[in-house]
Amino acid sequence: MTHPQHDAVIVGAGPAGLAAALALRHAGLDAICVGPAPAPGRPDRRTTALLHGSVRFLTGLGVWERLRPHAAPLAALRLIDRTGRLFRAPDTAFEASEIGQEAFGYNIPNAILTATLFDALGTGFVPSTGVSGIQQDGAGARLALADGHEVSARLVVGADGRQSFCREAAGIGTRSWAYDQTATVCDFAHGRPHGGACTEFHYSGGPFTVVPLPGGNSSLVWVERPAEAAALAALGDAEFAAAIAARLDGLLGEITEVGPRSSFPLSGLIAKKLTAERLALVGEAGHVMPPIGAQGLNLGFRDVADLARCIAGATDPGAPDVLAAYEAARRGDVLTRTLAADLLNRTLTSGLLPLQLARGAGLMALSLAGPLRRAAMRRGMAAAGA
Ligand SMILES: Cc1cc2nc3c(=O)[nH]c(=O)nc-3n(C[C@H](O)[C@H](O)[C@H](O)COP(=O)(O)OP(=O)(O)OC[C@H]3O[C@@H](n4cnc5c(N)ncnc54)[C@H](O)[C@@H]3O)c2cc1C
Repeated sequence: MTHPQHDAVIVGAGPAGLAAALALRHAGLDAICVGPAPAPGRPDRRTTALLHGSVRFLTGLGVWERLRPHAAPLAALRLIDRTGRLFRAPDTAFEASEIGQEAFGYNIPNAILTATLFDALGTGFVPSTGVSGIQQDGAGARLALADGHEVSARLVVGADGRQSFCREAAGIGTRSWAYDQTATVCDFAHGRPHGGACTEFHYSGGPFTVVPLPGGNSSLVWVERPAEAAALAALGDAEFAAAIAARLDGLLGEITEVGPRSSFPLSGLIAKKLTAERLALVGEAGHVMPPIGAQGLNLGFRDVADLARCIAGATDPGAPDVLAAYEAARRGDVLTRTLAADLLNRTLTSGLLPLQLARGAGLMALSLAGPLRRAAMRRGMAAAGA
């Protein structure tokens, strides 16, 4: 190949891809992001609980000040067992103030997060309906865009989501599995203040989580068996508000308004490798997990931060030693987080007594022992550092 046009091409303009393009440009690379632009007409109705490390990462990218007014601090996390199982875990509460922090993180609508990253990237974005071909040779990779154009770079960053074309084109295998669960998400307004507390109710169909939003509203992630989720989708707004109120049992007072709903069938995936010749995967191209414990995109941002760190100072961002360092840096975090979210989710849905017992005992220890709980919070915050 003649000299590649760019240092890096990031494929996919989701939050992980946009953050990767910004991070690599901040590191001084000539990096562009290609893919369909985030469409205002098809908003992502999810919100993301950004943990401490992600906030630091976004601060480093220079976008946090713009995001902060749209984000609600998460001052407390409550876990409430409603599985009705033989071994019920005790209610467990974590307060950020217990470890001298104002908040564990901040909850922000995905649509605002993505639009802000997109604006910050400016001319670093090349709109395209998609990348349809990748050809590597020693010095770089050539990408065919669906509109007939071509771009080349020394490194391709696959940030093209769970069905990643980049991953498939590189022949990277996956371990993937489906859950018999669907998440329903929406925002809602309520009469009683949330007080900055995120509450995760554990039901046998999956977690039912309410997360603070600014303006006294909250976002909901309601995970259920698919048939139950379909029944929820068929409810009118007033009936759906009543269903939320019944689950919350007065926690947030009267539900005064519910926003439009979206559904997400749940699945899990781990890519067998995060790298191939001239390619690194970030975000859901490399790992997918159920929405329990707010891990997915936080893990994706840690991918990006580690990739930028491995590239810093390298003369060739797609060189084998850079990619080997990235693979080594990410493997453990990706495996442990994805499998932990999977296990925690299965302890809710499984009728197996040993699993229920293990979960109950773990939460019991955390709820009773202050030092253990504080150590777990500090560890959680340190591990979430990007
Ligand atoms: C209900 C729910 C709640 C969640 N809550 C949280 C939470 O609180 N905290 C948290 O950390 N995580 C959470 N997650 C996970 C989080 O939403 C995902 O990790 C995140 O959205 C994935 O971002 P991404 O950029 O990797 O992928 P995506 O957002 O899927 O972006 C992929 C992009 O690639 C583009 N693309 C695809 N193919 C091509 C191609 N061939 N060429 C070019 N572009 C292409 C797509 O158009 C898209 O723009 C939640 C997930 C769910 C389902």
